[in-house]
Amino acid sequence: MGKGILFVISGPSGVGKGTVLKELMGKVPDVVYSVSATTRPPRQGEKDGKDYFFLTAEEFQKGIAENKWLEWARVHNSYYGTPRLFVEQKLHEGHNVILEIDTQGARQVKERCPDAVFIFLTPPSVEDLTKRLEKRGTDSLQDKKIRLRNAIAEMEDAEWYDYCVVNDSVQRAAQEIKEIMDREKGGI
Ligand code: 5GP
Repeated sequence: MGKGILFVISGPSGVGKGTVLKELMGKVPDVVYSVSATTRPPRQGEKDGKDYFFLTAEEFQKGIAENKWLEWARVHNSYYGTPRLFVEQKLHEGHNVILEIDTQGARQVKERCPDAVFIFLTPPSVEDLTKRLEKRGTDSLQDKKIRLRNAIAEMEDAEWYDYCVVNDSVQRAAQEIKEIMDREKGGI
């Protein structure tokens, strides 16, 4: 698609993708984070344009009709999508881009951009993931149930990813992803 490398990171809800990515972004200044669009309401502290582009369902669907999303999926009853133009432009300019998307979206990217590098972040165990989801105060009980069910289903997708990284420690997992990226950038 361009000169840069597209990195795709997925992992079940509650695995700590956000924290690991935050840590990672401090280590890889040459990688651009693609902000996704979503129809889910903002959580406390989330900012439009930084964490997500928060859209109405109508706006999102208009984006589908206009082919604005590189990939999109319905996750936990909301729409999520990757802005196509932003990613294409950055890759074309030679920047490496990182997408944090679910496994349904990652499959679409795999079809469209077979050269992308797919990294799956897993929890050390299902018990660990259940605990983390239960602790998360921001979601309703119903939300948590949906997320746990989806998370277990998502874990089964890990097998087709290029790399699997265990989030046993934020620092270590971020470092491992950085090393994967460095290796891929070096063409090794
Ligand atoms: P959350 O609502 O917790 O921020 O994200 C829920 C799920 O949506 C996560 O698994 C996250 O990876 C996924 N997600 C975030 N942005 C996108 C996107 O642009 N496309 C797809 N397919 N999934 C996304």
